[in-house]
Amino acid sequence: MSKIAVIGGGVIGGAPPHELAKLGEEVILFEKNYFGSGSTFRCATGIRAQFTDEANIRLMKYSVERWEKLEEELGFDINFKQTGYLFLATSEEEVEAFKANIRLQNRFGVPTRLIGMDEAREIVPILNTEPFLAGAWNPKDGKANPFKTLFAYLFRAKELGVDAREHTEVIGFEQEGDAITAVRFRSNGKVESVRVDAVLNAANAWAPLINEMAGLSRDIIPITAYKHQLVKTEPLEPGQAEPLVCPPSWNDAYIIQDGEDGGIICGAGIEHKAKGLDDYEPTYDFLRGVLEYAVRIAPPLRYAHVVRQWAGFYAKTPDSNPAIGRLLDNFYIAAGFSGHGFMMAPAVGEAMAGLISKGRSKVPLDWEWYDPYRFERGELRSSAFQIG
Ligand code: FAD
Repeated sequence: MSKIAVIGGGVIGGAPPHELAKLGEEVILFEKNYFGSGSTFRCATGIRAQFTDEANIRLMKYSVERWEKLEEELGFDINFKQTGYLFLATSEEEVEAFKANIRLQNRFGVPTRLIGMDEAREIVPILNTEPFLAGAWNPKDGKANPFKTLFAYLFRAKELGVDAREHTEVIGFEQEGDAITAVRFRSNGKVESVRVDAVLNAANAWAPLINEMAGLSRDIIPITAYKHQLVKTEPLEPGQAEPLVCPPSWNDAYIIQDGEDGGIICGAGIEHKAKGLDDYEPTYDFLRGVLEYAVRIAPPLRYAHVVRQWAGFYAKTPDSNPAIGRLLDNFYIAAGFSGHGFMMAPAVGEAMAGLISKGRSKVPLDWEWYDPYRFERGELRSSAFQIG
């Protein structure tokens, strides 16, 4: 049995401890704030396999299959619902691009199809069909509750003996050559250290700071925090906009009905580089901009009261694909998930546990595609489609 430290108590750090414990490993999980306090509890709940490249499609096809079994596996209601994603085209060129994406997705078993606006209106009763020519519709995409999902993972992990610590900040490492031998951490003002056999950096926007603690350059994995915001309306009757609905050419604007209370969550690519890693201040330009898009997508929303606005980080690499893999001898990373870390967590959690514990995994994760050292080599992947 090895002792593995996981840094970051969001969903990407929260899934591997359970998987590692199932493989018989001893795990200590560090979260400097409270669990989920980073991007995870701020996310828009969306889960999709509709990507535009083979690596992300195959990974998400597998992740959706894991999501389908997760409630049973973890024994908790996480409110996973396959309510679909509907992308909407506003030009003939976009319809052609949708068709090419659909062919690629179908090749890997993702059942997306092109639909007309009558069918789209049946799926989303409040949709304004007039501006759109066609939709890319995958009924197997969906949504889940991020709070319930993370807590379910952590509950089961703790049951298997995982030592999961909140308000405990990792502040450094002890190393012998390239190997990390101990993690130093601070809790309640007290500094301690614990000997470990391996470390997983799952600190997302903060990951470059953790890399620096391991003696690497902060820029080796260039992750930049962008403030991504959402607003939510008062609850609407269920069934009005259950899928995530997005016309990508409208600045990646989207709406999705919250699976819990029926409020409509509205997002858009109106982003700001975060002024610091505590810059969660919502902005007025976003509020105005997102509501203009939302009302154009679904006109009845003009009568819905907005009850919340909040901000979180899209932790972005230069190609918007995460960095996943081994960085040093026993130091691993899974970070920089942009707008798709929540949906990828079941697959990535399992893959990282396999890699760290056994040196391999059956998860169809293309390690080369996500190779953390690709930026240093000047290799960028095609940009992953970013929205939630
Ligand atoms: P985080 O949840 O950010 O967790 C990292 C944790 O590391 C933090 O809790 C932080 O406190 C901790 N940490 C940092 N430094 C230290 C340290 N030194 N010691 C200990 N702990 C430390 N994704 C989707 O899949 N679908 C969506 O619909 C979606 N919508 C989104 C909407 C918004 C508004 C935002 C902001 C994001 C959205 N995302 C979505 C993206 C998704 O939320 C993230 O990709 C995902 O939550 C990343 O999880 P994580 O565990 O990597 O990071």
